Amino acid sequence: MGIIERNRRLIEADQKYIWHPFTQMKEWLEGEPLIIEEGRDCFLRDIKGRWYLDGVSSLWVNIHGHRKREIDEAIIRQVERLGHSTLLGLGNLPSTELAERLVSITPEGLTRVFYSDNGSTAVEVALKMAYQYWKNKGIEGKNSFLALRNAYHGDTLGAVSVGGIDLFHEIYRPLLFETYKAPSPYCYRCELGLNHPDCRFGCLQKMEEILRNHGEEIAAIVLEPLVQGAGGMIVSPPGYLRGVKELAERYETLLIADEVAVGFGRTGRMFACEHEEVVPDFLCLSKGITGGYLPLAATLTTEEVFSAFLGEYAEFRTFFHGHSYTGNPIASAAAIASLDLFEKEDILEGVREKAGIFSEWLEEVNGLVHVGDSRGIGLMGGVELVLDRETKRPYPVESRTGYRVCMKARERGLIIRPLGDVIVIMPPLAISRENLSRMLEIIREAIMAVTEGR
Ligand code: PLP
Repeated sequence: MGIIERNRRLIEADQKYIWHPFTQMKEWLEGEPLIIEEGRDCFLRDIKGRWYLDGVSSLWVNIHGHRKREIDEAIIRQVERLGHSTLLGLGNLPSTELAERLVSITPEGLTRVFYSDNGSTAVEVALKMAYQYWKNKGIEGKNSFLALRNAYHGDTLGAVSVGGIDLFHEIYRPLLFETYKAPSPYCYRCELGLNHPDCRFGCLQKMEEILRNHGEEIAAIVLEPLVQGAGGMIVSPPGYLRGVKELAERYETLLIADEVAVGFGRTGRMFACEHEEVVPDFLCLSKGITGGYLPLAATLTTEEVFSAFLGEYAEFRTFFHGHSYTGNPIASAAAIASLDLFEKEDILEGVREKAGIFSEWLEEVNGLVHVGDSRGIGLMGGVELVLDRETKRPYPVESRTGYRVCMKARERGLIIRPLGDVIVIMPPLAISRENLSRMLEIIREAIMAVTEGR
């Protein structure tokens, strides 16, 4: 079969058999899918041989680029020993070594690692543990959670219950458990109509009001530290996270930090909580944990939480939760190799250096006619496009402005995905300065081409 025939069949089969996530399939079936065949460094090659910059880090997971030799080799070495063995009633080497490594690099006090497979399950585990923790302690009534508007914690129903993006979550409302919702720290569109810093953290005051009235019902506060990712790359003002931690302590509830998107160096520190010296009661990790190679997640917690689950079997304090691939050895081996690379290649220092280029660029594009706000930290950020800068009026949904900008960037050799009309910038952390600059220039041009017609 020639290459043209093979490609025709691949495209046909994709459109015939695959239901793509977060995708309007009518639109997908009307277009021509881009099918990826190979990756190298920060680039992806499609079946037609065209290379693209991976500006979305393959959905925010990639750290060291594609086909990173050290990770490839670690995976191969592990495959030659053991593909999978369960953690239910057994241990295995790589997941044990990884747990020790995770405890050593996460904020002091997080000492226990519970594995699962993806970001949503990392959050489910934290929610269920927090809930059961209080039950095991004999404290009744803590049957709810406090979450934020614009929050995204994944797509399983527990994670959706603590989500705050109406477009994704509202339809499932009748299936979800009730949670209390505090304002999103979204200063550009403050739901309280306030301006930071004059507001003196009005959003935290609202959160405190909820805790004052309902603290005894709240098992935990759950949030994405520093950046609400899928909500639109919403960067919280400095001090906000610390404020939430203080409220959690004052009102005797637990804090779940969902670092699925921001963990592993994204913000310029290994974990976002470090920026404000916060130690949460639960730390949810996934995405970058394996350098972007394999599905793996970990929920870390404290000795205090862990010990509440200890007892005689018949007391039923056990955490009755687990997944078939929990602690998968191949994924764990990839994660260890990725952590080694963090040290060997000083990834965090690299992120901090490149963050300078990125933040200058964010300031520059903030002057464009249809950019309402541009925001970011480390190597993650977003540019919010608006119809009218003065009034912050958004584009009509039907105009698909963010999507069209991303398609324009694709014509220029860059893969990115929008969140509505927020253009997301999420390159692999190891991207070279040249490729980062190139990526940012393509995005600037694409924004101008679509919004200003030039
Ligand atoms: N939590 C956060 C903060 C996320 O950004 C995501 C995914 O984008 C998730 C959880 C869910 O992760 P997954 O898609 O691996 O289930």
